Amino acid sequence: MAGHMTPDEFRRYGKQVIDWIADYHESVASRPVMSRAEPGDVLAALPEHPPEKGEGFDGLLAALDRDIMPGVTHWQHPSFFGYFPSNASGPGILGDLLSSGLGVQGMMWATSPAATELETRVADWTAELLDLPAKFHGNGVVQDSASSACLVALLSALHQAGGGAPGRDGIDRRYTLYISSQTHSSLEKAARVAGVGANNVRVVDVDPVTLAMDPAHLDALLTEDIASGATPAMVCATVGTTSTTAVDPVPAIGEVCRGHGVWLHVDAAYAGVAAICPEFRWINDGLDEYAASYSTNPHKWMLVNFDCTLLWMADRAPMLGALSILPEYLRNKATTSGEVIDYRDWQIPLGRRFRALKLWSVIRWYGAEGLREHVRTCSRLADELAALIAADPHYEVRTDHPFGLVCFRPLWDGLATEEANIATLDALHRLNASGDLLLTHTKIDGHVLMRMAVGAPTTERRHILAAWSRIREETTP
Ligand SMILES: *Cc1c(COP(=O)(O)O)cnc(C)c1O
Repeated sequence: MAGHMTPDEFRRYGKQVIDWIADYHESVASRPVMSRAEPGDVLAALPEHPPEKGEGFDGLLAALDRDIMPGVTHWQHPSFFGYFPSNASGPGILGDLLSSGLGVQGMMWATSPAATELETRVADWTAELLDLPAKFHGNGVVQDSASSACLVALLSALHQAGGGAPGRDGIDRRYTLYISSQTHSSLEKAARVAGVGANNVRVVDVDPVTLAMDPAHLDALLTEDIASGATPAMVCATVGTTSTTAVDPVPAIGEVCRGHGVWLHVDAAYAGVAAICPEFRWINDGLDEYAASYSTNPHKWMLVNFDCTLLWMADRAPMLGALSILPEYLRNKATTSGEVIDYRDWQIPLGRRFRALKLWSVIRWYGAEGLREHVRTCSRLADELAALIAADPHYEVRTDHPFGLVCFRPLWDGLATEEANIATLDALHRLNASGDLLLTHTKIDGHVLMRMAVGAPTTERRHILAAWSRIREETTP
């Protein structure tokens, strides 16, 4: 019978695993970016039943290479340009490993004071790096994803809109949530989860060119809903939308929210971390004056491997009112003293990983300087790519690409929109199937656009040029 892994065994196998990861990163560029696995391939390679006798660790890495790796898409590949980046880094991986090594469940301050206090500190560090308003100081928390952050914001906003009744008991109102057609789908999901209901999600118009939310239409919808007896709970503005990185006018939206007394959440999941560079600080406009909550994902573009989202509250009281419950079995002196933060009250689940370690590790390793350099390199490469595309009369590129994402489409000289869309999607499929690069797409005004997001730490100019050359090969009519 196999017993627990001894420290010596752990040391031996641990070194093999670290070597495996280092080899992987060293060679990832030579692999096809997108997995070529068909549905069921990986499942078929795996034994149908678990072993009765432990098999030890020998052979696990070989099975990983043989059975698992063919089904892996290489997100850290320098030619991975799909979705948004989910960039990992050496210090991020090692910080995560340390967190696994400690195995701490940091639900409360009392369950490991350092897990809470390091998190408070690195949330403040990040707020300082991004030059966020002082009101967020001490009010930041690490969440698993932007989806969770938006749900926590909505629950807090509902609590406030309902007058702060514990558990929202005895409140029978129709609450509404305001988004645009460009807002991330997690907001509608949050409305469903929170019981607001998809029908009470109001979709505000966007500017047809910039795709930014129209504050005048928001104002009109709020006025109309309030007149019909609804209670507006929250408006979500986005800085850097998922489809095209459009930026909603936060100050003008904030002014409307203030006029109606509505909670403003600003979702900057992808783009928010760009503010580490002074030239991007404009994306913070209006946060100080108007935002009740703000979230961004270090796990997208700040070299912290998934998962790590930061959420800040201007005032933590509505969130605590909405989420805090203290059962007898969790009672402890520190909690009742009121002197400590218990992050279990700042999120949906009770339990939580020690995620602050990887954020700490990344910030310490790179320093503000290194993180700034990463953002700048990616946006410079994106600018260069956009210029190449703009110079080619066979393509149309969206002119606003303030961050690392470029959206464009082949014009397929003479093809009608529907045929052009099919041709673009076919070309995208061929490109991704070739393994040379990975792109995703979006649809704006009926046109399918290719999305190319630059964000992997290993992406260099030559990868951009090679990608552009492959795109031209596959999109020449
Ligand atoms: C990616 C993204 C999200 C969702 O992020 P998760 O962390 O995967 O939940 C939300 N909003 C915007 C604007 C995004 O780009």
